[in-house]
Amino acid sequence: MSATQKSAVSVWARRSAAHGHPFRIVAGNFMDTIGRYSFQEYLKMVEAFHGSQAPGLVLGGIMVDYALSEIPAGVLFDAICETSACLPDAIQLLTPCTTGNGWLKVIDLGLFALSLYDKYQGEGVRIFVDPEKIKEWVEISNWLYKLKPKKEQDKDRLLAQMEQAGRAILSKRLIGVKPQHLARVGKGAISNCPECGEPYPKRDGALCLACQGRSPYIVK
Ligand SMILES: [Zn+2]
Repeated sequence: MSATQKSAVSVWARRSAAHGHPFRIVAGNFMDTIGRYSFQEYLKMVEAFHGSQAPGLVLGGIMVDYALSEIPAGVLFDAICETSACLPDAIQLLTPCTTGNGWLKVIDLGLFALSLYDKYQGEGVRIFVDPEKIKEWVEISNWLYKLKPKKEQDKDRLLAQMEQAGRAILSKRLIGVKPQHLARVGKGAISNCPECGEPYPKRDGALCLACQGRSPYIVK
């Protein structure tokens, strides 16, 4: 254990003790760094970007860090995120992939998992929370399975367990991404919608998708 790790452990030990929980080190994979940041620096970034130290983003950071370590140097990669909650922000904080530049796709399967893969070949790695490995981490289980109401969960202890556990609660699987998710399809020709008059991709049909009934708005 490095000096940095020791000092971080003692910080968490003091915080955990202050919250009435004896601190114990279980077999984990202590997170010294997340991406190119220290664990504490990452927590600050999360707070600034997301508005709070959301546990989903802390776990997400550990997952992205793991996935990044599996991608060979020099490979241009894209990302798929399988939930719309929290995890996309961890990918956007730690990789060049954003929903805006199209390198991150959110396919909301409701699963807390992500993949990074070669953007042309589709070969890559999927990282997911492993239900077998999570069992002994009580606070993480309470949070993930919503076993306790949020206000009864101990957030300091939860973040401490995430820091201690690191990759020990995750598993990886090699994946290939289906070709339809690799295709770089442009928007094609654009024309004005005969109904609302706004420019839209003609490939969507005779009317824009909003005028075909996909608009989320009530007409006022
Ligand atoms: Zn329209």
